[in-house]
Amino acid sequence: MQQDHIRNFCIIAHIDHGKSTLADRLLEATGTIESRQMSAMGGEQVLDSMDLERERGITIKAAAVRMSYRYEGSGFRLQVSDGADGGTETSNLKPETYELNLIDTPGHVDFTYEVSRALAACEGALLVVDASQGIEAQTLANVYMALDLNLTIIPIVNKIDLASAEPERVAQELCDVIGFKMEEVLYVSAKEGTNIEGLLQAVVQRVPPPSGNPDAPLRALIFDSKYDSYKGVIAYVRVIDGSVSLGSSLHRDKLRLMATQRMIEPLETGTFRPTFSPTDGLTTGEVGYVATGLKTVRDCRVGDTITSETDPAPAPLPGYNPAKSMVFAGLYPSDANDYEELRDALEKLQLNDAALHYQPESSVALGPGYRAGFLGLLHMDIVQERLEREYDLDILATAPSVSYRVRLTTGDEIEVDSPADMPDPSKIDEVLEPWMTVSIVTPDRHIGAIMELVIGRRGAYTKTDYLEHDTHVKPGERRVLLEYQMPLSEMLVDFYDELKSRTQGYASLDYAFADYRPEKLVKVDILVNSVPVDALSALMHSDDAQRQGRALVERLRSLIPRQMFEVPIQAAIGGRIIARESVKALRKNVLAKCYGGDVTRKRKLLEKQKKGKKRMKRVGNVEIPQEAFMSLLRIGK
Ligand code: GDP
Ligand code: MG
Repeated sequence: MQQDHIRNFCIIAHIDHGKSTLADRLLEATGTIESRQMSAMGGEQVLDSMDLERERGITIKAAAVRMSYRYEGSGFRLQVSDGADGGTETSNLKPETYELNLIDTPGHVDFTYEVSRALAACEGALLVVDASQGIEAQTLANVYMALDLNLTIIPIVNKIDLASAEPERVAQELCDVIGFKMEEVLYVSAKEGTNIEGLLQAVVQRVPPPSGNPDAPLRALIFDSKYDSYKGVIAYVRVIDGSVSLGSSLHRDKLRLMATQRMIEPLETGTFRPTFSPTDGLTTGEVGYVATGLKTVRDCRVGDTITSETDPAPAPLPGYNPAKSMVFAGLYPSDANDYEELRDALEKLQLNDAALHYQPESSVALGPGYRAGFLGLLHMDIVQERLEREYDLDILATAPSVSYRVRLTTGDEIEVDSPADMPDPSKIDEVLEPWMTVSIVTPDRHIGAIMELVIGRRGAYTKTDYLEHDTHVKPGERRVLLEYQMPLSEMLVDFYDELKSRTQGYASLDYAFADYRPEKLVKVDILVNSVPVDALSALMHSDDAQRQGRALVERLRSLIPRQMFEVPIQAAIGGRIIARESVKALRKNVLAKCYGGDVTRKRKLLEKQKKGKKRMKRVGNVEIPQEAFMSLLRIGK
């Protein structure tokens, strides 16, 4: 396709504001998928393919689709010149066929980097906002990212069919916050298909065609990658400069991945229509895929640049940044015999998830397992759920923690991502922990409740911005953007749930890493039946460790079931006991009931008991339930 007939764009939207529904309408309106075919593909939401994604209503992985669109409009491409001559440069648009590439972006804050690369593959973005809700925190963050990358943004107010819709108010908010003009805003109902044609015309008219140089050496941006058991790793790419060709069957053109320095001989190139559809190559501005033959997505990173081996580009595309784990947890098989299966499952998951890191870890209490690093809490959740669902494993996960930087008295600095690995206090000079910048959008009546929540978790207030400039809005209803700084560790458990419950679901959240800051932290060890349970160790603020240690011990007492003997539970800091409780001994033996009974009944009972023991872990001679490991950080919150 001629470069000036290509439009590459993505959709920025908050969860549930209608991204998937709108994408479905675009696919239908362009005949990319017939309505008939759509119902055969599961009814709706063609772009969300994983079961988990549909259930949770989020897009975990990006996907892309190419549409052919016959533009019947007239008029000019609206292009604001940035040249010194001023004025507006226009080009005449005739009724012609355009190639529209829609790149889907993941819809969760854990995947901000992936979003940034998907945006970098586009010239335009549709900003979709629910007419009954208004713009939310994370959407705002993504819009600013798109603006930084020079994307043209088309503001769309969706769900105008709803009785509770306030299209003008939401449009005004978009103008106030981001600086659109009222006449730029499109009003759409993705559900009823209202104004979809107008939207497609706006894409052709407003989004600039790709501007890369077709004669320059190849540079293709990888914005996603997937493992396919037949074709190996498939790189989803946007060709920025030059072109990819497969060469002849006798002489395959060789390619190079510039960041990982891997040489590849591509097996296939193609486009998404919407399924893989092979082509001879890909030209400047096009979006498509390259089947790399690589065996793991780790070798084919999002953000990397593909160039030619024989005629390489002098420099890669900017913005490459390998995924960094922010949240860590121990993953242990509930049944130690499943260790090998857990290893195989993690290996397979990692083929398709370059952001998942893990290494063997052995816990005194839990036996052999893995320490895994995740992009964030949702990512951790997804991995755990997939291990259980797709690999049928019973996993015991320890409480999530962050990665600390520890300055030792020797002057060395180490990274510690498990509380159990924290050196003895006498060897520590200083502990630094990751802090986040947190943005929250909410009606202003909740400011007090949010302030209390954040301050209670060691956070600090930064600023308040009113999103609605109109002061006539009912008191308490004016929407506001709050900004705070707080430790990531304080967000790991319950923060989002608390935020939602304190604001009746009205607040939305975005966060990004800010910096590492020194904090007075001490390790609190837990002893169950006098045995230290390393997986229960936690880092606590020293001013609060006494109180939290006591609360933790009390909580564990209520969680650990009675055993045949009394079980003492203690909390200690560096060998000094700070709290003690005990689980009273059980009076009756379950088997006592069967005394003299027949053997089958006894066995059945034991089996039942075994099932009930799911998610229990035997430590020494005490059974500890999974919940105990997760309860750690909930103390006193
Ligand atoms: P996503 O999370 O942004 O992908 O949102 P979805 O496309 O899954 O939509 C979320 C919900 O809003 C679904 O129940 C849709 O049926 C509904 N929805 C989407 N667009 C519209 C619309 O224009 N009008 C109405 N009334 N509902 C809509
Ligand atoms: Mg969706």
